[in-house]
Amino acid sequence: MCELEGLGYRGKALELLRGADCSVGDILEISSRGRVYEGILMPRFGAGAAIIVKLKSGYNIGIEVTDMVEIKRLGRGAKPAFVAPLLPKQNPALPHVVIMSTGGTIASRVDYRTGAVRSAMSANDLLGVVPELADIARVETEFVFSIYSEDFCQRDWSELALRVAKRVEEGVDGVVIAHGTDTMAYTSAALSFALQGLPVPVILVGAQRSSDRPSSDAATNLIGAVRAAGEAPFAGVGLAMHESISDAAIVVHRGTKVRKCHTSRRDTFQSVNGLPFAVVEDRVVMLSEHYQRRDPSRRLVLRQKFSDAVVLVKFYPGFDPSVIDFYVAQGMRGIVLEGSGLGHVSRVCFESIGRAIDRGVVVGLASQCVGGRVNMNVYDTGRDLLGLGVVAFEDMLAETGLVKLMWALGQTDDTRQVVELLRADVAGEYSCCTLLREGSLHYRGGL
Ligand code: ASP
Repeated sequence: MCELEGLGYRGKALELLRGADCSVGDILEISSRGRVYEGILMPRFGAGAAIIVKLKSGYNIGIEVTDMVEIKRLGRGAKPAFVAPLLPKQNPALPHVVIMSTGGTIASRVDYRTGAVRSAMSANDLLGVVPELADIARVETEFVFSIYSEDFCQRDWSELALRVAKRVEEGVDGVVIAHGTDTMAYTSAALSFALQGLPVPVILVGAQRSSDRPSSDAATNLIGAVRAAGEAPFAGVGLAMHESISDAAIVVHRGTKVRKCHTSRRDTFQSVNGLPFAVVEDRVVMLSEHYQRRDPSRRLVLRQKFSDAVVLVKFYPGFDPSVIDFYVAQGMRGIVLEGSGLGHVSRVCFESIGRAIDRGVVVGLASQCVGGRVNMNVYDTGRDLLGLGVVAFEDMLAETGLVKLMWALGQTDDTRQVVELLRADVAGEYSCCTLLREGSLHYRGGL
């Protein structure tokens, strides 16, 4: 892959830029539709075929690539480089918080002066660009990965859990994990199951806009996360992001009861079937009464193994049950069905489900409704599924159920024990009752 491709150019745009021997950072003259633009060639993010240039005015524009576009290189630009910002001075009297970086938007940055891209800002760089953190905590940083969260897999959850456990055992007051938002809720569920009896908070944090953009939510999210990690009275895994579209408050969701609900809004994460742990403004205010208190003397129990032989299957009208047989034949040991309403799938699936369970495959059932609880005793469909041995996932999110089944199968090969683990509330994934208000997505405000 050439440099221009790595920086997002494809097809006709790439051909034109190559033809004019251009690199990102070079000064170009582009003629299109009778107009001439002069500017610095920028990297191209997102979909589309336009060529992005920074004009002398400082504005970036996208020029549509047509057969009429002509490009001339006027000069070579400064070689793209990233200058790491100076690190702030630390105050030893403040709580000791470790920020781990794993990648994602929160750790991405474009240097718009030179066009340089740093898709891998380390936790140290994050500390450098958000110096306010040094007024809240004595921050130490640790690089773990530099990947987008869609590339995470079970092995990465295990590695991350090991890293966090090491720091917690060293006696830190809290851990913050900078993470891509796409699958951050899966990781927060995975860490909730893997890190049991945590004495301190472990807070995942992401951003919907990278830190180089004026509209970035990275700094405010990070500040809220570090404050929660250092000062919150609860222990356990949380996920901190904007509470609303304003910068006023950061909300810390429980790691097992949170979902990414919007592709681009800052308040994309919402607690489902439960209250968030807390909101963070200039201090941490608890919203939930049900939490384990911070207690540095508590011993952490690390159970970081996950099976990768589990699938999540969404049921829909006309669903072909041979999909279930296929997965069993592929050697899957667990299947989470995302059923309709109170926890149903069509009767045409019953034979395949029964066969899977007879072969020792654990089958769980979560609802594809966003809020509420599976109740498989209301209709005969649900009762018959229970009779086949399907485990009802109560008010647990389907994706949390998936991660929990991966985790349970990583702990034991004994199917009965796996089912027992699934039925137990291990990390706040089940709530004892679903109040109508708490079952709604939004405890104040809404998307
Ligand atoms: N695709 C990115 C990721 O999840 C998006 C983000 O960071 O928000 O890593």
